[in-house]
Amino acid sequence: MFVDSHCHLNYAGLIEDQGAVIARARQAGVETMLNISTRASEWQAIVGTAERHDGIWASIGIHPHEADTHEHVDTERLLEAAVHEKVVAIGETGLDYYYDKSDRERQRRSFRSHIVAARESGLPLIVHTRDAEEDTYELLADEMGKGAFSGVIHCFTASQDFAEKALGLGLYISLSGIVTFKNAKALQQSAITVPADRLLIETDAPFLAPVPHRGQTCEPAFVSDTARFLAELRGEAVEELAATTSANFHRLFSKAAA
Ligand SMILES: [Zn+2]
Ligand SMILES: [Zn+2]
Repeated sequence: MFVDSHCHLNYAGLIEDQGAVIARARQAGVETMLNISTRASEWQAIVGTAERHDGIWASIGIHPHEADTHEHVDTERLLEAAVHEKVVAIGETGLDYYYDKSDRERQRRSFRSHIVAARESGLPLIVHTRDAEEDTYELLADEMGKGAFSGVIHCFTASQDFAEKALGLGLYISLSGIVTFKNAKALQQSAITVPADRLLIETDAPFLAPVPHRGQTCEPAFVSDTARFLAELRGEAVEELAATTSANFHRLFSKAAA
């Protein structure tokens, strides 16, 4: 019924009891999960989890935080790893100027090599952006001009202006539990305006547990709470929101068989 389009099942907090986490997700109606990688050292384990479970898929990528330590990971290495049948996306990649954990120029270089991999493989790009709207948009638009690729702005928290620009590039917008937070009024306004056929939902588990789970370790089962909140916000039935966001997921991540 629901898809969690972005979670980290191999991270501390979920990995210790991964089987139970997946079982609780299924009980909550979360049939499909996309297990996201952030470092090359974890690719094998993340793909391994996807191999062991129907409905769990994997991504291959280097998080912007890790750009400094992954200068050796180029487009070619991403493409090699993305050949696996359970790998359906490239990322997460992007720019994070909030934490600035890696040199900004290296973040931009890594971001571009991921975009080239997305374009060449035909797999969608998973974009992380924080305090870096302007550079993120400029880089995406510049690369889109060189040749089309598809993708999603994950855990969307940026401005309405950025949402419109990203949609203009043909990208999808994924909302996490942050949209359920009391102080997220501006984000809630943006969430209402995202066209139904471009909307995805995610947990980004083990981070960012939605209301009413704040303070707990986030897990994919909770995407159902974010879906219920969003459906009410947008004036839709939750079944409708579940159906459209699931259809959107499978349209974008078309390598993930339904
Ligand atoms: Zn992220
Ligand atoms: Zn993430």
